[in-house]
Amino acid sequence: MSTVVLDKVSKVYPGGFLAVDRLSLRAEKGELLVLLGPSGCGKSTLLRMIAGLEEITSGDLWLDGELANHLAPRERDVAMVFQNGALYPHRTVRGNLSFPLEIAKADPLLVKERVVELAKALHIEETLDRRPGTLSGGQQQRVAMGRAIMRQPSLFLMDEPLSNLDAGMRTELRMEISQLVRALGVTTIYVTHDQVEALTLADRVAIMNRGVLQDIGTPAQVYNDPATAFTAAFLNSQQLNLLSPEVRTPQNEYVLLDFGMQRLILPWSDPRAYAVSKYTGGHIIVGIRPDGLKPVPESYEGPSFYGRVRTLEYHGHEWMAYLEAGLPAVPVPQPPDPRHAAANGHAGKGAWKFMRRLFPGRTAEPP
Ligand code: ATP
Repeated sequence: MSTVVLDKVSKVYPGGFLAVDRLSLRAEKGELLVLLGPSGCGKSTLLRMIAGLEEITSGDLWLDGELANHLAPRERDVAMVFQNGALYPHRTVRGNLSFPLEIAKADPLLVKERVVELAKALHIEETLDRRPGTLSGGQQQRVAMGRAIMRQPSLFLMDEPLSNLDAGMRTELRMEISQLVRALGVTTIYVTHDQVEALTLADRVAIMNRGVLQDIGTPAQVYNDPATAFTAAFLNSQQLNLLSPEVRTPQNEYVLLDFGMQRLILPWSDPRAYAVSKYTGGHIIVGIRPDGLKPVPESYEGPSFYGRVRTLEYHGHEWMAYLEAGLPAVPVPQPPDPRHAAANGHAGKGAWKFMRRLFPGRTAEPP
C-alpha cells in the first residue's frame, strides 16, 4: 500500500497547453481518493503522470516516500484500469486474469486457484473460457478489475472505469468496486466526472477545474462546505442558485444581505451571521440549493424571496420554478397547480398568463 504525494505538479503539453497547474495533494495508505472534474480539466493527465505514462513537466511525485518522477511504469507497482477495459482480445478471460501472474512466473497451480477465486468474487466464473469480445461491457470491466487485482499492486489507478456502462450496471459495479477496494485495503485513485459516483465511492474527493485543484475533503465536507463557488456549483446536479448580495450591518442590529431586488435579514442568533458580517460593505457569494427552498404563503414572516415565476420546468420527480432574473430557482413538488409555484405563493398577472399558456385547462386563476 502506497502513499501518493504530489508536490506542485504541472503538465505542459507540447504546443504549450497547461493541462495541470502546480497541483499538490496527498493520498493516504489504503485511501480511496476520487479525482472529480468536468471533461478536459486534467484528471486523466494527472493519473497518467502518477502511472508513469506521461512525463511530469515540473514538480515532484512521491510514491511511498520515494521520488518517482523518473521511475518507469513497471517500477511503480501500480495497476491501472481504463474506461474500455483494454483487455487482451485473443486471450480468454482466464488468460487475461492469469497474465500478470504468468509474467511473474508464479506457480501454475496457485495461479489457477487464484483465477477461480477471483472470478467467483467478481461474478464472472461462467465466462472464464470466453474471449473479451463476447462479453458485455460490465463483464469486461469486471475482468479488467480482476486483472488489476491479480497483480497485487500497492496502488490502483482507475480512469472512469464505469463510464461506458448503462446506469444500472454502473450502480452495481460501483458498489462492488467500493467493497473490493476496501476489502483489499489498496490505495486507490479513481477518476470520474460523475458527481454521484464521486460522493458515493470516495473516502475523500479532490475536485479539479482547468488543471487547478479546487477543493479536497470528505464527500460531506466538499458538499456541505465547499471551498470555492466552482465546487458548490459542480457538486449540485440540480441548478444551484449562486447569488452575490452586498453585506450590511445597519446599526449593528443584524446582518442584512442585500440582493438588489430583495433583502434577507440574519439575526445575530443565526450561526452564519458573524462569519458573514466580516464582509460588511462588500459582496459575498451565496449558494442556495433549490432543495433548501420551499414555496410559502404570502403571510409567511420569516426570511423569504418574492418573485414572479418566469418559467416552470419538469424534472420528473418534481417541477422547478424559475423566478424573475437574478432570483433563485425553487422546486415545486406538486404542480401543475401553479398557484404553488411562486416563491411566496404570489405571482403577478403576467406570470399567470404565462402559466396558462404552459398548462392550458389546468391553470387556476390567481387567488
Ligand atoms: P476527460 O474526462 O474528457 O478525459 P480529463 O479531465 O481527463 O478529461 P485530460 O484528458 O487530462 O482531461 O486532458 C486535459 C487537457 O489536456 C485537455 O484540454 C486535453 O485536450 C489536453 N490534452 C490531453 N492530452 C494531450 C496531448 N497529448 N497533447 C495536447 N493536449 C492534450
